[in-house]
Amino acid sequence: MHIVSAETFSSWKEKQILKGGDNRSLNLLIDSLGGLSNKELNLIKVKLEKNVKLKISLDLLESFWDKYLYSSTPIQYLSGFSYWRDLKLEVSNKVLIPRPETELIIELITGKFNNKEKATFVDLGTGSGAISIALALGNPNWNGIATDIDKKALKIAARNFTNNSNQNNLKFYNGNWWDPLENFKGEIDLAVANPPYIPKNTYEELPIGVKNFEPKKALFGGEDGLDHIREIVQNAPLYLKEKAWMLIENHFDQGARVKQLFLKNRFTNVEVLKDFSGIGRFTIGRYK
Ligand code: GLN
Repeated sequence: MHIVSAETFSSWKEKQILKGGDNRSLNLLIDSLGGLSNKELNLIKVKLEKNVKLKISLDLLESFWDKYLYSSTPIQYLSGFSYWRDLKLEVSNKVLIPRPETELIIELITGKFNNKEKATFVDLGTGSGAISIALALGNPNWNGIATDIDKKALKIAARNFTNNSNQNNLKFYNGNWWDPLENFKGEIDLAVANPPYIPKNTYEELPIGVKNFEPKKALFGGEDGLDHIREIVQNAPLYLKEKAWMLIENHFDQGARVKQLFLKNRFTNVEVLKDFSGIGRFTIGRYK
């Protein structure tokens, strides 16, 4: 345990922010590595605490902050955690950092479904587990399956579920998209995916913080970005029940093309829904 006076801590914090970055990122680091929650940080700010107890020294914390400022490593990878909706999720460079625009998927789905009914849902390519965990927690009557091709990602997702709940309505299966669901053919009521969809040219131009640190496997969708979305939509009819819903997140300009893919594969009620920036980000449809 490292104990410093509140005064020392506050001036240390000021010094860090003067170097660059924003309070939110610094607080995430202090919380995850230093063990000081936002609530405790506020008590220090209003001078209700004389001393600050930290899990690591200020010098060590500062070295992480410097790494963030000068190497473009995402703060979530340095701190090992990311906040997403009301969840605190463990992340590593094996998983995509869950994005704020993806948060809306949960409301969009809940709006289409009656959560009193039993349902079997699948989150394909779950990564950190963000979508599947939020759906399982918000709908205790549903049974969820989360798949991922990367075993290490799946372990992180499973830990995130255990650490954020005491429910057992979500299972984790290793494999490519639908492949692990052999035993669930024709039984899925709802499928969700945020697959890699970045087209080749865009991928090359991504900011360093994304391109050099986040897994290419979770971002890159081939020449036009649609390789994985095509695979998911084409195989969906094997696994979905009649009238099942499917929602896929896509790149800002792919909505119309993904809608055509849905229609070609016998989906009905197909719509492209906007994210909170007004971008047609989610394609949703019903299987027949
Ligand atoms: N929205 C993410 C980004 O812009 C991409 C996520 C994905 O490919 N599924 O970095």
